[in-house]
Amino acid sequence: YVTIIDQMKHLDDLGNGTSGNVVKMLHTPSNKVIAVKQMRRTGNSEENKRILMDLDIVLKSHDCPYIVQCLGYFITDPDVWICMELMTMCFDKLLKKTKQPVPEMILGKITVATVKALSYLKENHGVIHRDVKPSNILIDDRGNIRLCDFGISGLLNASKAYTRSAGCVAYMAPERIDPKNSNYDIRADVWSLGITLIELATANSPYAECKNDFEVLTKIIDSAPPRLPNDVNYSQNFVDFVNKCLVKDHEVRPKYPELMEQPFMQEYLNRDVDVAGWFGEIMSDICKKSTDTSINPYNLSVHSL
Ligand code: ADP
Ligand code: MG
Repeated sequence: YVTIIDQMKHLDDLGNGTSGNVVKMLHTPSNKVIAVKQMRRTGNSEENKRILMDLDIVLKSHDCPYIVQCLGYFITDPDVWICMELMTMCFDKLLKKTKQPVPEMILGKITVATVKALSYLKENHGVIHRDVKPSNILIDDRGNIRLCDFGISGLLNASKAYTRSAGCVAYMAPERIDPKNSNYDIRADVWSLGITLIELATANSPYAECKNDFEVLTKIIDSAPPRLPNDVNYSQNFVDFVNKCLVKDHEVRPKYPELMEQPFMQEYLNRDVDVAGWFGEIMSDICKKSTDTSINPYNLSVHSL
């Protein structure tokens, strides 16, 4: 008889993060291409804990269109294979490939998707994400934008001491770094969203000049919060929204209901934006670049696009 794994054809690698491999696979009987996260059953237990936490949250969030969806999973002797809807790219990879700022209209839709996903998690499951950054925001060819990677997320009222160091430092809110403060909340994710928006809007991290994590942490604590550059024509609504996310004192920083009332959110909740059209053009540019043999002499990875 044929097992599921025999029907799966490996097409490409999608991501290699801190919790296992994500690969692109073809399910041959249905001719469907999906994303599959591979977990070694005998693997590193920390890594597996993250994958299972992620799976738990994704399964719970089946009714949220702004969170990446799980299609099911199957087990082979050495591995658990978690099947997910295939997204095309994360915004981290997109920035690395294009080195171009993301237009404000698209950032509006990223903001709507991310705030809705985070607010859904908080309201329905009492969960804080803790790892909001461009590599955990995905986009597909139809222009859907969804949040992923709940590996270090957690219950709001659980002890947060041990997760203090988890996550990427450049997106870390000041109150998470302060050793006296063990009681940060969802507003830490709001800060990370602000940093993410600046990075996508400028194609550069506000901490790009720092030489190491220590310098980044010092700057977060001691300096004024990052701001959008004022020599670019951003709308006042966008500037105000980013500044609200990056209020240094977390007691004053808005939570999701207040963020949703912001003019920038309100504008993009109602506005039609052709995200798919924009993304299609970006992808064809990336394709052109990688077929240009002077840049890519071996024509590698062209098939994957
Ligand atoms: P981690 O960062 O903990 O390893 P993620 O869930 O963030 O795990 O996955 C790692 C990377 O794999 C993501 O940044 C993204 O580039 C890619 N990826 C994850 N899920 C999908 C998916 N459903 N479709 C396409 N790419 C994905
Ligand atoms: Mg990730």
